[in-house]
Amino acid sequence: MHTIDMDLVEMTLDVMKYTIDRISNVTPEMGSPKKEEDLLRIVGETITPEGIGGENAFQLFRDVLVKATVPIDHPRHLAFVPAAPTRAAIMFDLVTSASSIHGAYWMEGAGGIFCENQAMKWLVSLTKLPEGAFGVFTSGGTAANLSALVTAREEWREQKPKHARERALLMTSTGAHSSIKSMAKVMDADVHLIDSDDEFLSGDELKDAIKGLSEHDRDRLFAVVATGGTTNAGIIDDLQGIADVCEEENIWLHVDCAYGGGALAANSVRFLFNGIEKADSITIDPHKWLFSPYDCGAVIYKNLELAKKAHSQKGAYLEIFKDEGAQGFNPADYQIQLTRRLRGMPLWFSLAMHGTNKYKEAIERGIELAKIAEEKIKNGSNLELVRPSSLSVVLFKRKGWTAEDYRDWTYRNHNSGFALVTPSIWKEESVIRFCFINPDTTEKDIDEILATLE
Ligand SMILES: *Cc1c(COP(=O)(O)O)cnc(C)c1O
Repeated sequence: MHTIDMDLVEMTLDVMKYTIDRISNVTPEMGSPKKEEDLLRIVGETITPEGIGGENAFQLFRDVLVKATVPIDHPRHLAFVPAAPTRAAIMFDLVTSASSIHGAYWMEGAGGIFCENQAMKWLVSLTKLPEGAFGVFTSGGTAANLSALVTAREEWREQKPKHARERALLMTSTGAHSSIKSMAKVMDADVHLIDSDDEFLSGDELKDAIKGLSEHDRDRLFAVVATGGTTNAGIIDDLQGIADVCEEENIWLHVDCAYGGGALAANSVRFLFNGIEKADSITIDPHKWLFSPYDCGAVIYKNLELAKKAHSQKGAYLEIFKDEGAQGFNPADYQIQLTRRLRGMPLWFSLAMHGTNKYKEAIERGIELAKIAEEKIKNGSNLELVRPSSLSVVLFKRKGWTAEDYRDWTYRNHNSGFALVTPSIWKEESVIRFCFINPDTTEKDIDEILATLE
């Protein structure tokens, strides 16, 4: 393809100019979706036998299509889990693509895998897992959860011959992320949901729930999934208590910190995660609270060998990778994907450039912004705080508003290009949810959003 790009230089300049403009712009235009037929009417068919030309295609993207997307790093984007990739990480994402490195095996990817592993070493150190624990970058939290749970299930099968034909059962709480249930479906495993009040699971509740299982179900139980920061409210389960129960009962403990994992680096809240060092596996999403571009998740194992037993792929054409000359860390052995992008490289470059202290400060800022918002909500005469902020999430209500009022308010702010803040549900009632990730969000941003609720 390189040889036919006569206007490669020009296109490169366009792309670099766009990229530099975009990452320098701290308040990018807040786009919103359009109907597919409307987009098609504006841009026309873009895939043709002759091609429409790079300049033309790029212009359509820049002038039309990107405007039908929401810049999730906008400082007034407080919906879902926002993102705020560093400029360094974004630029290195381009370098990652340009370098064309196959990230599955050391034989081809050594230098890049070295970078990923440097970043991983820091992530693992935050968990305080024992010596020997390590992990690998995945496409996201869902893939990390699946990789961990498959490893747990394989280990459980390994333990007793009678498990070979048994349907596996996992236990988690109602506060767990939807991907847990969804990945259990992929694995054809059953889920026992513990109805935890207020998205918080304690060791005692887990113990009671296990006691309540039939003997057959107890035998099928292969893993417990605890949450290190619920996506809805930022609540961290009683990891210490849960870890003790799992140890006593000899059950694999997976801790899903896809959203909350960044806060392991924040000294002010680190104690809330005590007990995580006893987990068998942990999920952390650098594309959520560690300022990496999409997509980048991570799965960490206490015993890496168990992951290898579960995931290492075999095939005639892959045999060379197991050879002496290819000795080294093979990411393909520890998660569900074979061919893979070195998606930990942008995180590595940004960490190497800025240092871990800057990361700690940026994460603490998210927690601080949630506290600042909490105070302002407490002082707002028509606002009602639902519960104290937790990690970087605040839930609150606008007095007297119905679900429709919240929805209309969300669309009003979005359509005017001002902000994207979405409602959620707490104890079966509509609430407004702020989730802070971007350290560039200001107090003024919070004031202006709250002013739209007057
Ligand atoms: C976001 C999230 C996930 C899913 O992660 P993806 O990267 O979206 O696949 C899983 N668990 C928790 C707790 C999350 O917040």
